[in-house]
Amino acid sequence: MKKVGFIGAGIMGRPMAANLLKGGLELYVWNRTRDKCNDLIAAGAKWGESPAFLARECDVTFSMLADPAASVDVCFGLDGVVTGIGEGRGYIEMSTIDPGTARRIADAVTKAGGRFLEAPVSGSKKPAEEGTLIIMAAGDRSLYDEVEKAFGMMGKMSLYLGEVGRGAQMKLCVNLVMGGMMAAFCEGLALASRIGLDLRDMLNILDAGAMSNPMFRMKGGLVLSNDFPVAFPLKHMQKDLRLALLLADEAGQSLPATAVVNELFKKARGQNLGDLDFAALWRVTKESGH
Ligand code: NAP
Repeated sequence: MKKVGFIGAGIMGRPMAANLLKGGLELYVWNRTRDKCNDLIAAGAKWGESPAFLARECDVTFSMLADPAASVDVCFGLDGVVTGIGEGRGYIEMSTIDPGTARRIADAVTKAGGRFLEAPVSGSKKPAEEGTLIIMAAGDRSLYDEVEKAFGMMGKMSLYLGEVGRGAQMKLCVNLVMGGMMAAFCEGLALASRIGLDLRDMLNILDAGAMSNPMFRMKGGLVLSNDFPVAFPLKHMQKDLRLALLLADEAGQSLPATAVVNELFKKARGQNLGDLDFAALWRVTKESGH
């Protein structure tokens, strides 16, 4: 595999594509908003005129898009991946989407003669820049074996989880934990703040004990400054909670705490916090008093 395509130059897609370029691969890029590819093109990537063009020209094409609707548009829309992909070509969907959409894309790609992998990631903007993502792949095993080296350029760990749908399922189970952690973190800090405790003391205490984790450490600083430059958009966290609840509904699993956490994130979206980092949930919990 020498020639690769990358669709989606958002917060995650841009640095992931840049790492493929740094790894020595010939890279074609496409994004709905072309300007976001300028840095990649300046660094040596080539502009591809459509998702279909990338799927046709490149041995393997990766995508990193907002949500299931974006993934469907890029695959099945005008000049979409499915119209370009053919025998011997690979398509790797790295966006966080639901297992049903992943299967629908897999079916269309394989019917057109291509091979498909889903490969959602854990890790945010910084791990994407540093090439230290965790990649949860599932689908065509031969394609996985071929792209393991490329996964190594973007991530510090990749797992092969089986048939299509297993990657999306794993990613949604992992992210509902993250959403719940953020909600508990913000509520604990909100109560501490309301009763006049020092938030720095509380963050230090959390960090010294069994609940210490990189997320609380990083996001604690944002809470203290009440400034939330985006790494993981709050609207995407809420999308992941919604998809996790749908998955749980289909599986017959009750998730009462996650349902409440989802409502909190919906409230935050309603307050126009969707494009900030998901730690901006703090503003909702902080203002919830009586
Ligand atoms: P982002 O910055 O919002 O980028 C979204 C991308 O999707 C952009 O390239 C956008 O194009 C494209 N897009 C949206 N709707 C589209 C449509 N209808 N047709 C074509 N393209 C469309 O998001 P991100 O943070 O990079 O996240 C990408 C995916 O990774 C999401 O599924 C997210 O849940 C997941 N993820 C994110 C993080 C994180 O920390 N950020 C971590 C792990 C996983 P435009 O530029 O034209 O808007």
